[in-house]
Amino acid sequence: MYVSMKEMLNKANNEFYAVMAINCFNLETARTVIRAAEKENAPIIINLYQDHLLNHCDSQLMTPIVKMLANRAEIKVALNFDHGKDVLLLKKAIDDGFSSVMVDASRFGLAGNIAMTKEIVDYAFPKGVSVEGEIGCIGSTEQAEFTEGSMYSDPDDAVTFAQKTGIDALAISIGSSHGNYPQGMIPEFDFERLKYIKKRTQMPLVLHGGSGSGEKNILTAVKEGINKINVGCDFMNANLNAVKSRLQQDANINYYDLVDQVEKDSIELVRYYIRLSGSSNKK
Ligand SMILES: [Zn+2]
Repeated sequence: MYVSMKEMLNKANNEFYAVMAINCFNLETARTVIRAAEKENAPIIINLYQDHLLNHCDSQLMTPIVKMLANRAEIKVALNFDHGKDVLLLKKAIDDGFSSVMVDASRFGLAGNIAMTKEIVDYAFPKGVSVEGEIGCIGSTEQAEFTEGSMYSDPDDAVTFAQKTGIDALAISIGSSHGNYPQGMIPEFDFERLKYIKKRTQMPLVLHGGSGSGEKNILTAVKEGINKINVGCDFMNANLNAVKSRLQQDANINYYDLVDQVEKDSIELVRYYIRLSGSSNKK
């Protein structure tokens, strides 16, 4: 069933688990993720990153594909525009039928972030589309701010931001980063910050950069109030590793067999995260 993130994440908030949001960019990756969720009997979010919409599959093309896959499935599926930085692209995705969008406007400071996020909320809500906002700057392993503490979400700003925008879900920064961590590194999460923001907002909270966070961090984050976990890199790595391994087994494999095998091989990584998030059998 094709749904917005709102009811999905409110249920997760009430029942203390998280829903996985996996970055996809085409039919094959979306189908892999939905198949994994079906096997786990779990709700799932298909995340589409802005650059992938621009470079691989635009929102007009991707919406009917995900809708069809969702409506054939026995589980709830949301389609979310991940890190929408451009107002026109966000509105276009809503018009094209995305069931959810995430507004990435934290670079504008608190007032600017509120203004842009509220503009999208006002556009999305009458159409039944849910909105995720972001407070604080979630780091990237490929950028200089990676090790700086200044990127953590300010709890008071988080409360103000949530109240003034009316968003359905709030992405907070507690120490995770986008991208692959250096080999062997496990990030340190600020759980006190998470607990405090949860206590003050009581709303669905989102962890970005879930890849490579480590089982302990994810389990504790879910326990302390994270209700949506974004994973991109680990899924892309699983797909790439499947390609490498299938080619190693048979360098002359037919391309269509290769694609089919990669889809099947990559399901396990998604199932692993679904089980970790506590959303198995929560459809
Ligand atoms: Zn993110």
